Amino acid sequence: MENDEAIVIRSTDFSETSLIVTLFTKHFGKIEAIAKGGRRLKNSFESALDILTRINVTFILKKNDTLNILTESQLIRRFHVHQNNLHGLYAAYYAVELINTFTERNLPNPQLYNIVTEKLNNFENPDSTNVTNSINYHIAQFNYQLLHENGIQPTLKQCAECGNKIEIINPYQLIHFTQSAGGIICNTCTEIYRNSNQHYSLIKPETLKLLNHFESEINNKINTQSQYKNFSYTAIIETQTLLNNYINFQLGLQPRTQKYLKQFN
Ligand SMILES: [Zn+2]
Repeated sequence: MENDEAIVIRSTDFSETSLIVTLFTKHFGKIEAIAKGGRRLKNSFESALDILTRINVTFILKKNDTLNILTESQLIRRFHVHQNNLHGLYAAYYAVELINTFTERNLPNPQLYNIVTEKLNNFENPDSTNVTNSINYHIAQFNYQLLHENGIQPTLKQCAECGNKIEIINPYQLIHFTQSAGGIICNTCTEIYRNSNQHYSLIKPETLKLLNHFESEINNKINTQSQYKNFSYTAIIETQTLLNNYINFQLGLQPRTQKYLKQFN
């Protein structure tokens, strides 16, 4: 019998009375488990198996491909939608879908667990000074942190193609970014891309600054919640879109919930 803290990232009806849940646990990673009787009104799960809910769980970990068995769960906290904050709710759905898609089963990652719980909190309680910017900033940051945790964050300091250092001197000059090389590319490499009709996009220097900011927060182990105020609406949206697309490229698919976020841009 194992005990752990977890976030419910998926919950599906299995039978009249049972549920199958996908949990992102702190110390066991992603697990799937059956909650027998989980759909009954009175059960040992305190009706705490809704998606986005943070719980304490007791389960029997099965070897091989057999489903794990959930024996008990207690609510730590439910995700509340304050003041019709649909943007935050969709952002939270998006975050758990990404966790479900990106993580492998039974691979513990307590660091990523902490990132998700913190982000769910940011989505649930956005900064009221500017709700839209605050949530969009945290979506972009979550994208970046997830890419970083998987070791596939974009190259930002030197050319992702040839390795030459790229100095941004002119604050108005657009920078070339490519998904295939995984980062920014120098003028020489851009010329090669252009001549061979390979795709690249243009990003603003402020967008690169924000990406570098995410990277330096990870490296310096700091996390300042109100940093979004130092970046323009345009830079935040451009960064979020760039990272959404980069994630889609890495996954080879578009997360289902991603399209719901567009209406808040
Ligand atoms: Zn280059």
